[in-house]
Amino acid sequence: MLIDFHTHAFPDKVAEKAIPKLAGIGGIEAYGDGTVSGIISRMDEWNVDRAVILNIATNPKQQTNVNNFAIEINRTSDRLYALGSLNPDSDCIKEEARRLRDAGIRGVKIHPDYMERTIDDEKFDAVFAACVENDMFAVTHSGWDFISPDFIHCTPERILKVLQKFPSLKLVAAHMGACRQWDEVERLLIGKNIWIETSLAPIFDLDKAQCARMIKNHDPNKILFGSDFPWYRSDLEYEYVDSLELSDEL
Ligand SMILES: [Zn+2]
Repeated sequence: MLIDFHTHAFPDKVAEKAIPKLAGIGGIEAYGDGTVSGIISRMDEWNVDRAVILNIATNPKQQTNVNNFAIEINRTSDRLYALGSLNPDSDCIKEEARRLRDAGIRGVKIHPDYMERTIDDEKFDAVFAACVENDMFAVTHSGWDFISPDFIHCTPERILKVLQKFPSLKLVAAHMGACRQWDEVERLLIGKNIWIETSLAPIFDLDKAQCARMIKNHDPNKILFGSDFPWYRSDLEYEYVDSLELSDEL
């Protein structure tokens, strides 16, 4: 069973505008049209059995709509698991977390660069507390992102502060712990109580020996396979991971 833990999709009308816009800002290629049906057809092509769709409420006003979209995907697909999103500046984080949990949503995605707050900003405390209270996990974008190239809102140092403040939080740090900050990840996060997901490692040329070392030194139950589709391809991500010197079991 191959699960791609990091993918994105938008409602069809939004995808039409959002994909070219984001591709333009980032100067990157999109490998899909950003729709839910687009993900399914790529999954069939690349032998991906299940995908987790990470939705982001980039501002408090979007939170309800973004979460309605996630709930609808979860309700209608047996191969897609959509995550909700909680914005740190929302004034109904508690209630929204409960609504997500009651709808069967298992976790939320946050993106500190888009949300314009560092992950250890006190404003995120309510988000993490709501996750713990409702037994939901949080996935965070971590490390460098083109949306805020000169200031990284989620660094390994800041993640460590969150882990210390919320020891029972289930936190997933995308992009091998922090995109393009892999020496710091190795020093500060490997071996800690955090889930790490593989996406962007091949795009930003994470050295394969370093990537394999990070995976071997971490809890094998806390490593997740993710591609960041449509910003990369699940099949090429798989090729990268498969080319690492790891035991078959791992
Ligand atoms: Zn992503």
